[in-house]
Amino acid sequence: MIKLILFLSSFTIMMATQNFAQDFDFSKVKSCSPKKKIPHSKKLLKDLTWLNFEPTQITSADIFTIQNINEKHKTTDITFIGHNTYLANCAGYNREAISKKLSLSLRQGLSCLSHLNRHRRKDAAILLSFLDSRYSSPLVIRCELNGANEYMGRDTYPGWDNEKTINGIASAFVCTNNLYPSAIFSKWKLNKIISAENTDEASTFFHELLHLLGYLHMDKDFDSWGYDFVYQVIGCCFPNSINRELNPVMDLEHSCNRLKKMRRRI
Ligand SMILES: [Zn+2]
Repeated sequence: MIKLILFLSSFTIMMATQNFAQDFDFSKVKSCSPKKKIPHSKKLLKDLTWLNFEPTQITSADIFTIQNINEKHKTTDITFIGHNTYLANCAGYNREAISKKLSLSLRQGLSCLSHLNRHRRKDAAILLSFLDSRYSSPLVIRCELNGANEYMGRDTYPGWDNEKTINGIASAFVCTNNLYPSAIFSKWKLNKIISAENTDEASTFFHELLHLLGYLHMDKDFDSWGYDFVYQVIGCCFPNSINRELNPVMDLEHSCNRLKKMRRRI
């Protein structure tokens, strides 16, 4: 399992097996995407008001899916929030607020990408396919609990420069046979992510979903300042969330122009 950690101003990459031991293998990095955009995606992207997550009653038709999530993600704490998307381990958190923030983040990011050019519209269209059970495995948003991974967002990471405190906010799990497409959020940061308006945390949900499309921080497609695809999307589509002091060069116009020229990962 590959784990991509988002930092406030810097980033690194590590891999963990399901018990979060370190064991990195770059050859396993791949997109979770079904590589197929859903029909009528252009129409769906035109007006995204339909994209609204909220905790929803699970019906008997979903039992099989729930069992599979239970098996893969090793938890029985599973909440369906619509559009092929499930919260895992989030019972101790405000699930309504998480769903609402996810809706807003996705609408903003998808709308922005779809208006840039046809390449970015295809990225947006493929991201939509995660939200439809006919085209993708369930999408799982995991809330971090006390446990093996509780360092995320607070502690010093073993092997990392001892002087630095790891500021991880969230990680995307690039798909393997063991997990469904998913992202996990730091318990130290989750409340801030949910309530964030104009901070780096505001774009976190969309940042992690971009990783599921196969865009990684180690891609070679950097701009001259070293910003990769994911950070250019944040610079262009979530301009108010960029910390200008830490990222003075990430202005909106530069990021949007750069994005138009970048390769598609899938
Ligand atoms: Zn990242």
